[in-house]
Amino acid sequence: MKMMTATKNSIVELQNVEVQYGVITALHGVSMSIPKGSIVSLIGANGAGKSTLLKALVGLEPVSSGAIHYEGELLFGSTDSGKVRGSTKTNELVNRGIALVPEGRRVFKDLTVRENLDMGAFSVKSEKEIKHKMTEMFDFFPILRDRSKQKAGSLSGGEQQMLAVARAMMSSPKLLLLDEPGLGLAPLIVQDIFNKIEIINKEEDVTVFVVEQNAKLALKSSTYGYVMENGRILLEGESRSLLKNPQVLEAYLGE
Ligand code: ATP
Repeated sequence: MKMMTATKNSIVELQNVEVQYGVITALHGVSMSIPKGSIVSLIGANGAGKSTLLKALVGLEPVSSGAIHYEGELLFGSTDSGKVRGSTKTNELVNRGIALVPEGRRVFKDLTVRENLDMGAFSVKSEKEIKHKMTEMFDFFPILRDRSKQKAGSLSGGEQQMLAVARAMMSSPKLLLLDEPGLGLAPLIVQDIFNKIEIINKEEDVTVFVVEQNAKLALKSSTYGYVMENGRILLEGESRSLLKNPQVLEAYLGE
């Protein structure tokens, strides 16, 4: 079967993506499209397959069938000739404009805030550009400027999440992938982080794909949403319609 070609205005396109852990199928033919410049959210309960989907997107889990296209080019999965294309190295993804903020804000705890930001800029060759980007991130998250010489491990959870986002932004990505940015943080702090993500999307012209268990916030901040259950997309639509959808209200918003 000839694979569909990716839609022109989408930055990422998943077509019938399957991922398996041994005999367990974690993703059953997932299709989705992330339009350029948008914020797209993926919500779902524990174990739905959200993290697996993000891992497949960055090549940490192999796609057993289907395809993932990025900017119209096959990133992972089956080619027209039926071959499966596997690993693309992380630095290649970063060079192509993809940055991931992993779950659990994995910052380098023994490095200072400034050193963490430097690490995020490993793909940037120009010192001037790194300096400019760092100033931009410090303007954007002033608390990080105040804490720039402190070890990242001494920051609060919310500050570490901000640092994780800022570090990802140091490579000037076109696509920012966020894995549960709200996990384990107080509601006001999560709100603050989502506000920043919305500003980044608008001001920096970055497409955002956010995986989140806090369905309300994720849908409020995004333009389009996908709901995943047992490795399948159960529902999709404009986020504001999903926020009113009775199935979503009952299962994910506790109303
Ligand atoms: P959470 O919000 O808890 O992270 P999730 O929606 O991200 O959940 P996944 O972590 O993607 O869900 O898990 C999807 C399914 O795949 C689950 O049934 C999980 O038990 C299974 N799974 C995940 N990782 C592995 C693995 N390394 N080996 C085997 N099964 C796995």
